[in-house]
Amino acid sequence: MKKYNFNAGPSILPQEVIRQTAEAVMDFQGEGLSILEISHRAKYFQPVVDEAVALMKEVFHIPDGYSVIFLGGGASLQFCMVPYNLMEKKSAYLNTGVWAKKALKEAKGFGEAVEVASSADANFTFIPTDYEVPQDADYFHITTNNTIYGTELSDAKLQDIYKKKGGVTLVADMSSDVLSRPIDIKQYGLIYGGAQKNLAPAGVTFIIVKDEILGKVSRHIPTMLDYRTHIDGGSMFNTPPVLPLYSAMLTLRWLKKNGGVEAAEKRNIAKAALLYECIDSSKIFIGTAKEADRSRMNVCFVLKPEYQDLQDDFFKFATERGMVGVKGHRSVGGFRASLYNAMTIEGVQALVDCIKEYERKL
Ligand SMILES: *Cc1c(COP(=O)(O)O)cnc(C)c1O
Repeated sequence: MKKYNFNAGPSILPQEVIRQTAEAVMDFQGEGLSILEISHRAKYFQPVVDEAVALMKEVFHIPDGYSVIFLGGGASLQFCMVPYNLMEKKSAYLNTGVWAKKALKEAKGFGEAVEVASSADANFTFIPTDYEVPQDADYFHITTNNTIYGTELSDAKLQDIYKKKGGVTLVADMSSDVLSRPIDIKQYGLIYGGAQKNLAPAGVTFIIVKDEILGKVSRHIPTMLDYRTHIDGGSMFNTPPVLPLYSAMLTLRWLKKNGGVEAAEKRNIAKAALLYECIDSSKIFIGTAKEADRSRMNVCFVLKPEYQDLQDDFFKFATERGMVGVKGHRSVGGFRASLYNAMTIEGVQALVDCIKEYERKL
């Protein structure tokens, strides 16, 4: 039976990326060696890193004056690397969920970290807009897509943030919607994310940083935690996560070949609309996120109160039909279908058909 992977992360990758990664595990570019056993210093691997960086810049339209680096440690390490490198005294955070809160917690160890607004009282079902960004903050941190709650900063809300930030450096955790739509990179000082949601298998983290914002804090930064170390080292200061980085490069090739982020955005709009329409017209399910803040990447829905006892039954029904990973995060409950770039419209249609079939048989 064909399986459709709706996992939130690690998550679906393009089939050809998985196949090409498997080929490189068996024989890396006809060298007679596996990618698992080559030296990252060898002539073989440098071109991979160079191509990944160049493709990221090209596909995501990153202007001059920015560096792209690939590190280990996940998005979670960035929660402390960001304040380490950018926060002298004060920073500001928009609290839109668990990941934002974890980032904020780390910043508190470096000085005054202000929570400008939070939707915690509404279990993060919407993105707050009623706040100001303190203009004496060293940076303002946002999470563009809230993987757990299925909320995302729409283009309109991003525009509002670009205005609100004034002269403050904008920092974004883009773990779960990177490369899913065009972004006005020049509005940002730093963008980071774990690659395991839209780009690669787990193990590699991407960072896009405006060079001129670095080197401004007075504290000593440990070598490995200093962005400049990795910019100077070309992501090769120490051994990089070779295999996931190779897959990331392949995903970027795939994305470029398929029309870049512009075409990806069109597909993502169509996929999300298909599933949200199905949920909105359902008699048993209801979406959890406020409509204007709905994510195109993670679609969260629950059973209406009178159908709550069908929770396990629907999950079993969907799983038996090849729908993998549609369970909601434990803090939200219900269901979540992640529709990252590699998810096809056929996959979404299969889930919609499954939901409709379930409702018919009730
Ligand atoms: C998954 C996720 C993280 C955590 O990523 P790790 O690489 O596991 O540290 C952080 N932020 C967001 C928005 C996420 O979706």
